[in-house]
Amino acid sequence: MGRLLREAFNYRGCAICHMLDRDESDFMTQLQYKIVKDEKVRQQLVSSKAYCNSHFYEMARLTSPIVNAVLTNDLIKEEICEIEKTSRIIDEVDCSVCNHVREREDFYLEEFKALLQEGSFQKEYDSTDGLCRIHLKRVLDSLKKSELSQYLLKTHLIHLKVLRVELETFISKVRSTKRDMGAEKNAWLVAIEKWVGKRGLRIRSQ
Ligand SMILES: [Zn+2]
Ligand SMILES: [Zn+2]
Repeated sequence: MGRLLREAFNYRGCAICHMLDRDESDFMTQLQYKIVKDEKVRQQLVSSKAYCNSHFYEMARLTSPIVNAVLTNDLIKEEICEIEKTSRIIDEVDCSVCNHVREREDFYLEEFKALLQEGSFQKEYDSTDGLCRIHLKRVLDSLKKSELSQYLLKTHLIHLKVLRVELETFISKVRSTKRDMGAEKNAWLVAIEKWVGKRGLRIRSQ
């Protein structure tokens, strides 16, 4: 259990964000393939109003202009029909990429919590950059006050302090125009992710 999260420990930043990024792009790659091959998938996409802003642009980048034209043409055709029928614009978008990411996020959060019971997992987690604040907060909110939440907070503080050392090393090297960057080279990027989660992560209350 937890193979994927443990694998993600080999990379910098939040392990859950890392897995979500991977699952999100895998899902989009498969989806763009299905849109071309499967008429039903395209119809389903049109009835759910395609994607949210950021996923529409991402999907457009993965897809060919002709597929983008066919999809937007279908969306607009549907919109014309709806306005003629109901005299209003229906703006609820049920983005299937967001839905998929949300499901995967719940899965990884549950898995992370289950694995935390293992001492060996805690040791592995200690030596990573830790979860981003968004995912850490979600885990803490669901654990309430317990030994595990104390452990997570204590570890979070260590992770933050280690990251500060890296940021300060980076800052002083750049100021002194030293070029021998080590792990601190990407410290600012790791720090941004620590703060807001991966690019495009939706903040959820639950
Ligand atoms: Zn995260
Ligand atoms: Zn979306």
